[in-house]
Amino acid sequence: MKEAIDLIHLSMNNKKLDDEALVKWTDWKWQIKNSIRTIEPIEDILGITFSEEKRQTLKRTLDAFPMAITPYYMSLIDPNDYENDPVFKQSFADMRELYKSEADMVDPLAEDQNSPVPGITHRYPDRVLFHVSNVCAMYCRHCTRKRKVGDKDSIPTRSNLIKGIEYIKDHPEIRDVLLSGGDALMLPDKHLAFLLDELAKIDHVEVVRLGTRTPVVLPFRITNELVQTLGKYDNLWINTHFNHPKELTPEVKTAIQKLTKSGIPVGNQSVLLAEVNDCPQIMKKLVQKLVSFRVRPYYLYQCDLSEGLEHFRTSVGKGIEIMESLRGHTSGFAVPTYVIDAPGGGGKIPVSPNYLISQSSNKVVLRNYEGVITTYKEPDRYENNSCDLDCNNCHLQLTEGKLGKLSNQEVVGIKKLLADYDETITLKPGV
Ligand SMILES: *Cc1c(COP(=O)(O)O)cnc(C)c1O
Repeated sequence: MKEAIDLIHLSMNNKKLDDEALVKWTDWKWQIKNSIRTIEPIEDILGITFSEEKRQTLKRTLDAFPMAITPYYMSLIDPNDYENDPVFKQSFADMRELYKSEADMVDPLAEDQNSPVPGITHRYPDRVLFHVSNVCAMYCRHCTRKRKVGDKDSIPTRSNLIKGIEYIKDHPEIRDVLLSGGDALMLPDKHLAFLLDELAKIDHVEVVRLGTRTPVVLPFRITNELVQTLGKYDNLWINTHFNHPKELTPEVKTAIQKLTKSGIPVGNQSVLLAEVNDCPQIMKKLVQKLVSFRVRPYYLYQCDLSEGLEHFRTSVGKGIEIMESLRGHTSGFAVPTYVIDAPGGGGKIPVSPNYLISQSSNKVVLRNYEGVITTYKEPDRYENNSCDLDCNNCHLQLTEGKLGKLSNQEVVGIKKLLADYDETITLKPGV
């Protein structure tokens, strides 16, 4: 540990590492082996001494939720103001995690309820979440799967992974598979290649997405060998998890470039976190820096109702205020979709400022980001093409090829209420 602490100190102070040290520092396995999992080294690194009472409370917090901070991520902390540092707040245990709010839930997204086989969450019609790993390089203090991630009893076994693949094989409607965890890139290259090969053999799987925070907390995980492996799959997307512009370092740039140069599109999912990034200026900086790295902001999440996250949660209004400060103010493709993942397994629900102010039978009134109120005149004659779902006999060529006849069963949700061919007039909750 002593050596790792020395290297962290050097890195923290922007000192150049000698060649031998650099080899270690940039070896992702060395980083994991030397990750900080207890309180004492942190006192050493930050030059602080916790009171005995505080140390005991922190230890209780770690008993409930494990901690692991890579030396690299640790070195980003500003030792002179660590308590306000966004990297520190995301990675270091906080006794407020032990506080249980009335709104907290163990499995707020009902991932277990929507799980037909262990490891698979099948909530949406055409895609599944596949938990392939239970460990992370760094345990985010704001993790929505806090109760499970890092818990040895929840490690996916090989036989469960195979059951997951079988499930995907047996369900031709699944065209998109999200490999998640834990962190999917904590799997060894060989295991990853095995999973990706198995998925590649399934004709109906058109897209594979891989969720990982390693580019943020362990950029050295993106090795040339890994990129060679991943680059072979031409339907693979990666989504990562940057929350603060400070996380976009030169090391990260190198890692992201390896991914993008091998043809993998990279997206980002951020979580809105109190006192970490709940600020329009910080968010704008973050998304701008992301697109300069060729990372496309995808979602901004409202913090979930998982246990121990109350101190990270913001109002929804703060999120809307942030969205208001992005749309129009910066590049459209830098603007993520702000979503609330509905408790109880309702899925992601987008929320946004209102731009449609009013409407009449032939006009809509809109406002733009500057507050200009304007109108859009709708066409006087717009023939509604009544649709009976029989694409084979449609005179329009809205698609290449013919789609065949869809059955009413395939049409669900509000879409069903709007449809011409369906007589449903209300949706009744199934509870
Ligand atoms: C987020 C999520 C997905 C993917 O949703 P997209 O909106 O397509 O990114 C799929 N399944 C589950 C269970 C999810 O939580």
